[in-house]
Amino acid sequence: MRRHRNVKIVATLGPASSDYDTIRALHEAGADVFRLNMSHGIHDEIREKHRIIRQIEKDLDSPIAILADLQGPKLRVGVFANGEEELEPGASFRLDLDKTEGDATRVNLPHPEIFAALEPGASLLVNDGKIRLKVTECGPDFADCDVVIGGTISNRKGVNVPDVLLPLAALSEKDREDLEFVCQLGVDWLALSFVQRAEDVEEARALCAGRAAILSKIEKPSAVTGFNAILAASDGIMVARGDLGVELPVQNVPPIQKRLVRQCRAAAKPVIVATQMLESMIESPMPTRAEVSDVATAIYEGADAIMLSAESAAGDYPVEAVTTMDNVAREVENDPTYREVIEASRRASRTTVADGIVAAAREIAETTDIKAICCFTQSGTTALLTARERPRVPIIGLTNLRGTARRLALSWGVNPVMTGELDRFKMAVINAARAARMQGYADALDQIVVTAGVPFNVPGTTNILRVAPCQESLIYSTDPG
Ligand code: PGA
Ligand code: MN
Repeated sequence: MRRHRNVKIVATLGPASSDYDTIRALHEAGADVFRLNMSHGIHDEIREKHRIIRQIEKDLDSPIAILADLQGPKLRVGVFANGEEELEPGASFRLDLDKTEGDATRVNLPHPEIFAALEPGASLLVNDGKIRLKVTECGPDFADCDVVIGGTISNRKGVNVPDVLLPLAALSEKDREDLEFVCQLGVDWLALSFVQRAEDVEEARALCAGRAAILSKIEKPSAVTGFNAILAASDGIMVARGDLGVELPVQNVPPIQKRLVRQCRAAAKPVIVATQMLESMIESPMPTRAEVSDVATAIYEGADAIMLSAESAAGDYPVEAVTTMDNVAREVENDPTYREVIEASRRASRTTVADGIVAAAREIAETTDIKAICCFTQSGTTALLTARERPRVPIIGLTNLRGTARRLALSWGVNPVMTGELDRFKMAVINAARAARMQGYADALDQIVVTAGVPFNVPGTTNILRVAPCQESLIYSTDPG
């Protein structure tokens, strides 16, 4: 579906967006990628949403990416005899392996590996960071803590341990089951929560076995510190500001966001900025000015995608939230300052033939009246390299692989289009011109730039750039043979 912006929109699906009409309305309003959150929703519900998305994709003939987000190793306390307790600042509180119900002095934390890794002085954050505990003494089966910031603690609240590299398996038993389930269902992106190190990504990649691309959520201090290796091991990144802002002081999140977005662009890997982007729209049809500014900032920084969480999954105004993002994106991208910022941050060093060809494609398209850059791609890499250039003209990513087309729906500026199997370059040009005309980017009298790798069907061979007319008879008469 043709968009009038380059940044992509990811919408999380949930109870507020689970039927065909709503999901289709979200897509038509601007959602390019749908996120299925495996922390909620039983497999039957996930399967049904997946079926509906694929049906919409078929009905509208437009590739849609599905991103399945695994819960990851999220720590939770056990239950309380009274359901909840009030922790007063200055009081003592114990976490232990004892499964009996908790009270105002202690509760179960069923993770022996955490007690082994804790040290006195470490912070424990409970309930989205609202309660802060400091470890005073610990052993193999307990941790005694001082309550630094008090509050209500209740059954199964989440626990964050920011200061310690946890000896936790990257994928829980539930994650492994969910991974196999969604891979069999057929998703395009698999998001990993609470990634701590590159090995976590490699472990998931082995299980995934090429069935989906892997996106690492950066929400642990150790993932920020070890980001270079995690980026190298991943196909995409999410700046998961929710948990990141619990595990680190909130004021650390904006600079980290800026750095991560920049590094992802340099690596030509898509990056999503996520969480609380339009939080007030869960209950209100109008966003706050600060939220609009936050969405705009992520776009100015060059993010590939911006994300809605509860706004589209559980809010009262899911479609309005997507429309708001779409409106902000169009306005920002029409601002001359946006072009200045985006072009000033273009990476200069280019080392491969493909780098040179995509840079030349942009240069030719921008200095003449070319309507689109059409790139043939198998793995998606050439389209990603073209997107990294952030050209002023639309990018059409042509591929005969459905998985590649869908994955590219997450990347800045790429309009994925399916083609048949190709063996001649001339046929590729004809296909590209047809796609450019059908999508409304060009008409018969316009010109396009076409890039491809010949022979076809060999990944990583981008070696041709042609300026071509859009009219078929002209393509034949100007074909170099
Ligand atoms: P979540 O991840 O919504 O799955 O927690 C995003 C975040 O933490 O920001
Ligand atoms: Mn999170």
